[in-house]
Amino acid sequence: MKHLLTLDDLGADGVREILDLTDTFVEVSERQIPRVPALRGKTVAWLFYEDSTRTRLSFETAAKRLSADTLNFSVSSSSVKKGESLRDTVETVSAMGVDAMVVRHSSAGAPHRIAGWTDASVINAGDGRHAHPTQALLDCFTLRSNLQSFEGRHIAIVGDIKHSRVARSDVRAFTMLGAEVTLVAPQTLLPPCLDGWPVKVSHDLDSVLPTVDALYLLRMQKERMTEALIPSLREYSAGYGLDLARAAQLPQHAVVLHPGPMNRGVEITGEVADLPRTVVLDQVRNGIAVRMAVLYLLLGSGVDLTTTGAQ
Ligand code: ASP
Repeated sequence: MKHLLTLDDLGADGVREILDLTDTFVEVSERQIPRVPALRGKTVAWLFYEDSTRTRLSFETAAKRLSADTLNFSVSSSSVKKGESLRDTVETVSAMGVDAMVVRHSSAGAPHRIAGWTDASVINAGDGRHAHPTQALLDCFTLRSNLQSFEGRHIAIVGDIKHSRVARSDVRAFTMLGAEVTLVAPQTLLPPCLDGWPVKVSHDLDSVLPTVDALYLLRMQKERMTEALIPSLREYSAGYGLDLARAAQLPQHAVVLHPGPMNRGVEITGEVADLPRTVVLDQVRNGIAVRMAVLYLLLGSGVDLTTTGAQ
């Protein structure tokens, strides 16, 4: 596999392979010196045209733990501000001899275009509302750790599905692995057409809560909204926010996930965000090991992982 643009590049077997490989990198991350020389001599560049905290730090940590060199590209302090085109920027970075580019862009399909302009591997770190494959992989790894399997499990994804690349990649991943997915949102926050989505839809969070093994809350993507889709955030929270009373309706074993950044008080209250069943920080921790697995699979397969990267 050369690129990771969507989960379809992996398929169900590829997703399972990444999850198994992630176990190895969790173990590496727990070593006293959490570093292996697997990608020594390889260079990974970041092209982030959209804001990020978790994904960027996570990829950067992953690359460093694999001993790769990293090239940091920040749109706000680069020639992009002088009007350089995406293609020229990609070709310039490519000419510096990078092995992989991790790309985030507000336009759906940008990583796909970039893959046509470079010999480097391209990893999609989020493109518009289209896909965010590594988020889905870390979500799957976190769910597998908590629920053991996906077969017969019921996962509800709640909130702004319409603008969410996380929802699109998660639906693909969870259903690929055998889970049932219900989307819970007001009509205005659902995509206009759900043909081909292997999901159920509900507008009533309270009736769904007792039936789930996991509840996945999404952030309201205000930066992608061009019109008022809900009467007010207060009204949204009243219908779809997870507070303590609602969390009490979940089965005892059910976990709560959120991709971050959380809007405490909108989709989740502060109290629920801090409950042990809310595994948001596990998602963050797992994100590093998952991204190590992805980088290793694309750039370093076959390199021995038993030796330490300490120098
Ligand atoms: N961090 C995730 C993303 O980049 C989710 C979000 O921003 O709401 O898509």
